[in-house]
Amino acid sequence: MAKKKSLCCMFCGRTPAEGATLVPSPAGDNAVCVDCVEAIHHMVVDHENDAKATGKPMDGELSEMPRPKEIKDFLDQYVIGQDDAKRYLSVAVYNHYKRLLQPDSDDDVDIEKSNVIMVGPTGTGKTLLAKTIARLLDVPFTIVDATVLTQAGYVGEDIESLLTRLLQAADYDVDRAQRGIVFIDEIDKIGRKGDNPSITRDVSGEGVQQGLLKLLEGSVVLVPPQGGRKHPEQKMIAVDTKNILFICGGAFEGIEQQVARRLNSHVVGYSSGNKVRRIRPDEYIKYVAPQDLKSYGLIPEIIGRLPIITHLESLDRDALLRVLTEPRNAITRQYQKLFEMDGVKLTFAPDCLEYIVDKAVEFKLGARGLRSIVETIMVDAMFEVPSSGVKDYTVTREYAKARVEAAHLEAQAK
Ligand code: ADP
Repeated sequence: MAKKKSLCCMFCGRTPAEGATLVPSPAGDNAVCVDCVEAIHHMVVDHENDAKATGKPMDGELSEMPRPKEIKDFLDQYVIGQDDAKRYLSVAVYNHYKRLLQPDSDDDVDIEKSNVIMVGPTGTGKTLLAKTIARLLDVPFTIVDATVLTQAGYVGEDIESLLTRLLQAADYDVDRAQRGIVFIDEIDKIGRKGDNPSITRDVSGEGVQQGLLKLLEGSVVLVPPQGGRKHPEQKMIAVDTKNILFICGGAFEGIEQQVARRLNSHVVGYSSGNKVRRIRPDEYIKYVAPQDLKSYGLIPEIIGRLPIITHLESLDRDALLRVLTEPRNAITRQYQKLFEMDGVKLTFAPDCLEYIVDKAVEFKLGARGLRSIVETIMVDAMFEVPSSGVKDYTVTREYAKARVEAAHLEAQAK
């Protein structure tokens, strides 16, 4: 494992520099980030409801599976916008489980694995979509950051640690782990460096990709149960990755230009002047295709193993406003719940919500920034209100502005 000097979240591994708001353990040697606390909390709370709503798709028949439309409806409750990605994911997951349930075939038709790759700016909901899918299906789920695999240097063993995490998420039930979902984030950051792979062969990029390829294709891998490096005395657990669904995500910064270049060169050859509809720059992402990923140094074999490609769009002001209030576990709802436990009705004034969104846009933090801004605004109130005896508490724009200015968030955002 790469040694980290600064404190990071013991679940997702993110540091404050990567946007994590950390809650340290009493001894101060460990920490967990508020996003993970939130995710764990909701997993526990919603687990029962979801199981009721969906039956036990893992063990059931296809007729008991949520249909793609139902999967999308479920995603709609947690994720704002991103309709395309939701549709692709819903179909991919449905087909994945069809594949798991396919009877031993007497014909030659073998449904192939439908690993997914999501392309879109950071903080637009890629991880959230993957997490929400896993919640719906009640399957073990883990998130790994592809760049961590790169940094470890020793190719092979660290990649398998991804399966260690999945095993842990499945309480070491190998069967369950073998049907789980792995979300690999920042897949765009492990590109092969340089154009000539034979000369500038770099283990950190291409080596990791080769290792991942083995997992994506489906193979039996020996996994160290506690993670870390392999050593001869350690007992390994064999995990077959054939039925594990891999969902990859990456920002692929600047991919629009790549798409534009491809589309334009296509248009030059075939267009007859005014018939060509002009594509607006913000629409290019919709046309992202596997060949666009090549220029990020992903080897063709990896691209081939991620046959389903979909995109996420940047969240505009309206979408950010909806993120604050609409999802089932929207940030404002979480604070309302916290206050409710003290018998206090919490209200956010509409112009206060607008202010929060403005700040998130201004700091270029997107949806990821909303939480830290709200946290900054609310911390004093959370300190004072429980012992104040008030029954109603409204957060006004003026109050929010004063808190944000006092916290010098601007400086942090730079
Ligand atoms: P990504 O994986 O694309 O970088 P995340 O899914 O981790 O982004 O999003 C970061 C946070 O922002 C999430 O925890 C979630 O609260 C919020 N968020 C981002 N996009 C959306 C969305 N489309 N709908 C609702 N919340 C979102």
